[in-house]
This record gives sequence, C-alpha cells and structure tokens, in this order.
Amino acid sequence: MSCPFCEISPKQLLRENEYAKAFYDLYPVQKGHTLIIPKRHFSSYFEAAEEEVLAIHRLIQEQKKALDKEFAPDGYNIGVNIGEYGGQTVPHLHVHLIPRYNGDIEDPRGGIRKAIPNIVQYP
Ligand code: AMP
Ligand code: ZN
Repeated sequence: MSCPFCEISPKQLLRENEYAKAFYDLYPVQKGHTLIIPKRHFSSYFEAAEEEVLAIHRLIQEQKKALDKEFAPDGYNIGVNIGEYGGQTVPHLHVHLIPRYNGDIEDPRGGIRKAIPNIVQYP
C-alpha cells in the first residue's frame, strides 16, 4: 500500500533530522499548518521509539521558530490523531503543528478541546 507521507518529495521538505521530517500540510487548516513525521512508517504515536519522539520534538521546536518569523502567529495547537476513532486518516504517525491567529475563529477558548463534544459542561 502506498503512503503519501513516505512519498513526500524533497521539494516539499521544510526540514529534517536523523529520524524525522517536517513539511506543510497539503490542506492547511491555518496558514503555516505543518506536519512532523518519523521517517520510519508506522501509524501510532504509542509505537514511536524514544529517539523518534525526541527527533519529532526537535523539529517542532525548529519549525515553530521558523513559523514565528514567517507568519508571526498569536498561538499554536499541537495535536496527534491516533486511530480511526481518534480521527486519523493517514496511517503514518504525524504531529500537527498549527499556528493560530487572533480572530481566526470567533471564540478560540478551548482550542483542541473543541474537537470533541464535552461530556460535562465546562464553566
Ligand atoms: P489526520 O486526519 O490527522 O490523519 O491528518 C492527515 C493530514 O494529512 C490532513 O491534515 C491532510 O490535509 C494531510 N495530507 C493528506 N495528504 C497529504 C499530502 N500528500 N501531503 C501533505 N499533507 C497531506
Ligand atoms: Zn508512510
């Protein structure tokens, strides 16, 4: 089975290190939406080796600095969807790094918590 993230072209690549790569999401939810993936193909965050988690973390930090310079966002969301019922659609682990901007949605309070309906109302 072919995997779009195993086939990311060198042209799309923003940065990489020994175990991870970063590139822009093809269908960004905000300007600068970046995906950070391990080079090895596997689907779940929970399968990642510690050196892969560290490599991903380092690219998140580097890419955040680059996004700050290029787009000057006002906030960020970092998120990982795990499994079909966690919302994952591409079965190659990827961390979403999403810059957020003042006014990009009417009421930003709650951030990624809003991706899931509350079972208990938040005050
Ligand atoms: P998820 O739903 O968490 O599995 O996220 C998959 C993400 O991959 C979505 O944000 C898509 O917009 C993005 N995406 C799908 N195909 C590609 C591709 N070929 N290159 C870059 N991003 C992609
Ligand atoms: Zn893959």
